[in-house]
Amino acid sequence: MAELNFKQELTSVFGQPVAENPTQAMIEAAYQHHGLDWRYLTIEVAPEDLPAAVQGMRAMNFRGGNLTIPHKVAVIPLLDRLSEAAQLMGAVNCIIREGDELVGDNTDGKGFVDSLRPVCDPAGKKVVILGAGGAARAISVELALAGVEDITIVNRDSGRGTGLLDLLNGPVAKATSVKATFVPWEGDFDVPPGTDVVINATSIGLFPDVNARIPLHMASLEPNMVVADVIPNPPETRLVKEARAIGCEVLDGLGMLVNQGVIGFRLWTGVDPDPVIMRRALETVFDA
Ligand code: NDP
Repeated sequence: MAELNFKQELTSVFGQPVAENPTQAMIEAAYQHHGLDWRYLTIEVAPEDLPAAVQGMRAMNFRGGNLTIPHKVAVIPLLDRLSEAAQLMGAVNCIIREGDELVGDNTDGKGFVDSLRPVCDPAGKKVVILGAGGAARAISVELALAGVEDITIVNRDSGRGTGLLDLLNGPVAKATSVKATFVPWEGDFDVPPGTDVVINATSIGLFPDVNARIPLHMASLEPNMVVADVIPNPPETRLVKEARAIGCEVLDGLGMLVNQGVIGFRLWTGVDPDPVIMRRALETVFDA
């Protein structure tokens, strides 16, 4: 008789709100596909309960997990170590258990860069990033680490925009050759000629506001530019559709979501997951 084992390896996402986070569907589809008896739990954790929740991960021997709003910064003092990227960004979206230690990493930006590479080598490129929140921070730091030369941050809130600029031109520039500028977002933004990649890293267009318009002068987009949107739901955003009609190469937010999941999965399990299975699981969730 085969040996019985009812104990599963545990991973999770902590957030609040968290019920609409689709990561479980994507990761558990890959666990099943790769024959891993693992679980990925979607757990609502209030900010004041985060220390107890991380202690719970330790006590119950969780193999790793993700953090989403509002825990990405608050979790840092609760961990044993950070990756270089997480340290630079000051934010953690992925925890990995290494021996007795919980290590914080940030896979959002790496997931984006992995989506970009097949269509455009980031080295030496000129990039415009709309937004200066968590996603923009993660993407801009990883693009700099991947060799992007010039980053223009465009943001409505100047404090947040200059905060990111200081990060890029300070600690990040010391480790890379990046040069960043900040443009306060007033009216429709004109993409400067010579730009290689334009990224929407704001939440404009996220369900249910699917028809919201990004204040961007679409005529300033040129067909040789790559246009990327971080919005995963819906994957076919207004920006994605309009940029494709102009002839630009487009990247949707599902690619980034899948690729950051691929990195987390590999770090937790040591197995390289099939991204096609993961993307299909998300497309089913989003009816895409
Ligand atoms: P934050 O709240 O940290 O930042 C939001 C950003 O959007 C800010 O720069 C904000 O500008 C800007 N913004 C929001 N509304 C408007 C508007 N009407 N006009 C101009 N700017 C606006 O959020 P995150 O950075 O964490 O997330 C942003 C988006 O990225 C979310 O929709 C999220 O779903 C997506 N995301 C996707 C991932 C993926 O894997 N595909 C991973 C992580 C995030 P201001 O500072 O002026 O308020």
